[in-house]
Amino acid sequence: MKNEVKVGGTTYTVEIVDDLAGSDDCFGAIQYKKSLIQLDSNLEEQMHNKTFIHELTHALFVEAGYNDHEEDMANRVGLVLYQLLKENDFSFIR
Ligand SMILES: [Zn+2]
Repeated sequence: MKNEVKVGGTTYTVEIVDDLAGSDDCFGAIQYKKSLIQLDSNLEEQMHNKTFIHELTHALFVEAGYNDHEEDMANRVGLVLYQLLKENDFSFIR
């Protein structure tokens, strides 16, 4: 996976971190002020990708001006976005 992703006008760095936040249920995090997405190094591939898309969804909302969006909204939209990206070929857009 590339270690950068461009969202709106911002380039986010994607970092793989051992034992992120020292918690079993913290799979990923986003730090808007640092334009940084962090993913736990122990995630298997599918969970790694789903978590990346979830954090990316947070970035999408913030870059669109929805700074105060709900976690539930990021969960729901992130799951649909993950499915959309996984099961369709968007290479025609490039
Ligand atoms: Zn979240």
